[in-house]
Amino acid sequence: MSNKKALYERPLIQRINTGLMNKFGTKTEYAPVTHIDTFSVKDLITQYGSPVFVLSERTIRNTYKEANRAFKTRYLKVQFAWSYKTNYINAICNIFHQEGSWAEVVSGFEYAKALKNGVPGNRIIFNGPDKTDEDLRSAISNNSPIHIDHLDELYRLTELAVEMNKRPNVAIRVNMDTGIYPMWDRFGFNYENGQAWDAINKIILGDKLELIGLHCHIGTFMLSPSAYATAAYKLSDLALGIKQKFNKHIQYIDMGGGFASKNTLKGSFLPGEDTSPSFDQFAEAICTALLNAGFTDKDLPLLILETGRALIDEAGYLLGSVIANKRLADGRRATILDFGVNIMFTSFWYNHKISPAQEFSSYTEDTVMYGPLCMNIDVIRDHATLPPLKKDDHVVVHTVGAYNMTQWMQFIAMRPAVVLLGIDGKTHLIRKRETLENIEMNEVMPEFLKDFKIS
Ligand SMILES: *Cc1c(COP(=O)(O)O)cnc(C)c1O
Repeated sequence: MSNKKALYERPLIQRINTGLMNKFGTKTEYAPVTHIDTFSVKDLITQYGSPVFVLSERTIRNTYKEANRAFKTRYLKVQFAWSYKTNYINAICNIFHQEGSWAEVVSGFEYAKALKNGVPGNRIIFNGPDKTDEDLRSAISNNSPIHIDHLDELYRLTELAVEMNKRPNVAIRVNMDTGIYPMWDRFGFNYENGQAWDAINKIILGDKLELIGLHCHIGTFMLSPSAYATAAYKLSDLALGIKQKFNKHIQYIDMGGGFASKNTLKGSFLPGEDTSPSFDQFAEAICTALLNAGFTDKDLPLLILETGRALIDEAGYLLGSVIANKRLADGRRATILDFGVNIMFTSFWYNHKISPAQEFSSYTEDTVMYGPLCMNIDVIRDHATLPPLKKDDHVVVHTVGAYNMTQWMQFIAMRPAVVLLGIDGKTHLIRKRETLENIEMNEVMPEFLKDFKIS
């Protein structure tokens, strides 16, 4: 007998979707998805190439209206601000702006993008820990609400305000204990230890900056509405304290983003569609907290929401094709697809639903779905119960509208086209597929490296 200690393996409970028999035969996990809205998956791939991202305009607008309804039926003054980093393709941003959204940005480049899209300066919320002097100057001249992240920024902004002879509109970002750990305490000023009050006193008594709001962004893919209730109470407590101490009205409370989309986190027992709270549940938690906090009717602050992923994830699909099938050493079926983690960054966190795009038999098998990259980590799904797919069959990956089209990498392959499925019944190319020219555009070849001879 070997006295080698057995290796520890993390326990994992996972629901297995086996094909249950009934009188009609075997049940499969997925129905084929041959069309999205009214558009044929095959035609989309023929026209725009494989892989291709598509976004449904109808789903985006409906989701936005649903979120807006959930909050506006519970609270008088509500304003959404589109989180640019979640998906900053201009056509997508403009759909949200057409629906009435302001812009929320976290970098100078995103700020410039929002301005260029035509969003008025005072409707662009400037978040993030890294704002250069140039960014701050531009935000000050355009009257944008600047959300201060740390004291160094507060002091620099004060200097620039004096230099420019302007009174910038500011809010502070507040971090706090909402019962969700690890706490996101690297951003903003802490509520519990008094840093938030420290910053408030410095701003108001310094009298160079105009404190118009209080901001928090407590996390992302949050599954707990009650954490938002806690955060709303704590921000309200600060606003009421400011009113009491300085007789100063705080115009808005900005609850940030972070509502979970309907995606399924890796390791979770049930699909995201069954576990993610609805907009109504988040709205109920936040609005009730604000209404009960003790504001008089005229002091009730505007409620700003910077919701990103929950507004766009479900509207996005990735269409692709099967390159090959093989058997792994352990006997499992492996399918190689023509898209990988390079363009589907979120596959590190989610078990994305993958549907075959054509009719299939009722037979299914546990399958590993690989991307085309020459790397072991290029796994799209490590266990998917799917019918055997053949070379050149198509697949539809669901719920990829958030963060994939901003976090995608140009690694080994070029980035694909992005197409909007219009409510007008037409498809609209909103980002062309990359070309070698795009990729080499910023490269510079030194004269002495231009020529070589290989014998
Ligand atoms: C990323 C971000 C958002 C959007 O977050 P989601 O999780 O996509 O809703 C909102 N506000 C700030 C400050 C952010 O950094």
